[in-house]
Amino acid sequence: MWLRRDLRLSDLPALSTARGTDDSSVLLCFVVDPRLEKSSGERRLAFLFDSLREVDAKLDGKLLVVRGRPDEEIPRLAKVVDAEAVHISADFTPFGRRRDEAVAEALGEIPLEATGSPYLVSPGRITKDDGEPYKVFSPYFRRWHQHGWRKPADSSIPGSAVLDPSQVTKSARITIPEAPTTLSFPAGEDAALARWAEFVDDDLAHYDTGRNDPAADVTSRMSAYLKYGNIHPRTLAADLAKGDGPQAYLRELAFRDFYADVLFHWPHSLWHNWNRQFDDIELDTDDDAYERFEAWKAGRTGFPLVDAGMRQLAETGWMHNRVRMVTASFLVKDLHLPWWWGAEWFLDQLVDGDMASNNHGWQWAAGTGTDAAPYFRVFNPEAQAKKFDPKGEYVRRWVGDVDADDYPEPIVDHKAEREEALRRFGAI
Ligand SMILES: Cc1cc2nc3c(=O)[nH]c(=O)nc-3n(C[C@H](O)[C@H](O)[C@H](O)COP(=O)(O)OP(=O)(O)OC[C@H]3O[C@@H](n4cnc5c(N)ncnc54)[C@H](O)[C@@H]3O)c2cc1C
Repeated sequence: MWLRRDLRLSDLPALSTARGTDDSSVLLCFVVDPRLEKSSGERRLAFLFDSLREVDAKLDGKLLVVRGRPDEEIPRLAKVVDAEAVHISADFTPFGRRRDEAVAEALGEIPLEATGSPYLVSPGRITKDDGEPYKVFSPYFRRWHQHGWRKPADSSIPGSAVLDPSQVTKSARITIPEAPTTLSFPAGEDAALARWAEFVDDDLAHYDTGRNDPAADVTSRMSAYLKYGNIHPRTLAADLAKGDGPQAYLRELAFRDFYADVLFHWPHSLWHNWNRQFDDIELDTDDDAYERFEAWKAGRTGFPLVDAGMRQLAETGWMHNRVRMVTASFLVKDLHLPWWWGAEWFLDQLVDGDMASNNHGWQWAAGTGTDAAPYFRVFNPEAQAKKFDPKGEYVRRWVGDVDADDYPEPIVDHKAEREEALRRFGAI
């Protein structure tokens, strides 16, 4: 069983498949891939390593962790234990698909068998009647709902069924690396289940109304757990009864599936405009642009809600969804910078950084994605603050006193930049 973005032991169908009907023994392993180590921000690595430490502890120290290229390490381990098959939960990102194809090929006769995925409905599973993928969320959501999903799986296997790596291979095993930074909340399956139970008790019923209030901070904080598979969305969906709160929550889980589906069908949309009609828009990339970018990253734009969001991100690795929308819109429409600059910074900082949700969230804000906000709708950061943080609590929490001498003046004039954004859109 080769673990990847499924770092848990319960509700893990691939593990049950690995065990099989003939009660096979299973070696559980994880390959630290230097390519991903290089491209992941410190917080994501910390979350990953802490999650691995928890799985290892649950397996009484029997998780085999190695470092290297999976297409070399997995076939080597499969040979050492004379594996009948290598089991995985499917991965659908462009990188993950290429990697898994390479591993399947390198395994030769030994099958690479995928059971389940990190989604309620796997990418590519539902299409329009004519077989085309959905480009708009609402009809996708209706079909998604009709399609449905399974109940959580019982994937417990006896400890005696887990192969002890020290019995089968002495070479190459590494100690799980230390977390390179501290996290603002704990990683792992136990923490995910505890946080979910707390959210269900306290905030789920009012999620539909509370989710847009950054100061109240009543969203579930499941994103990083979902990203690393510390919990499967099936486990969450099983607790979502009727009612506005739970149903609003289910819709957000559908958004996660939708963006993964979009990426599956249009892999170029990771770093390029999904809608290529926007390719010719004029963007600022000169020295001034870099200076404005630095001010945005540091939370020193002089727009309190934007700065509060950017500081929350820098300090904690997480930002409230409403503020992600406002800060992203500001980068694209007030500063006229390429959305992928912002997307890259988010991925570097976020503990929940996820290619599909992040980059399509950015494309939504830029107006270049599927279902995008219409390009002519330009968020006014002050109006957004009045509406969603009317008492200024969120801003005070992250910025402090915006009347203080050391708080910067606005780096741009929103009204003028709005006109400028519309002019640039008009030009294409
Ligand atoms: C510019 C931008 C970048 C984003 N980057 C990421 C990212 O890297 N990783 C990430 O998981 N989410 C991202 N999101 C979506 C959303 O902001 C986060 O999922 C959410 O804030 C996480 O907090 P939560 O778990 O408390 O959310 P909740 O409100 O409790 O939502 C529950 C779950 O639903 C899913 N979800 C909610 N909103 C969205 C959404 N708009 N798109 C996709 N899935 C959603 C998430 O898995 C989330 O954990 C981004 C949104 C924007 C606008």
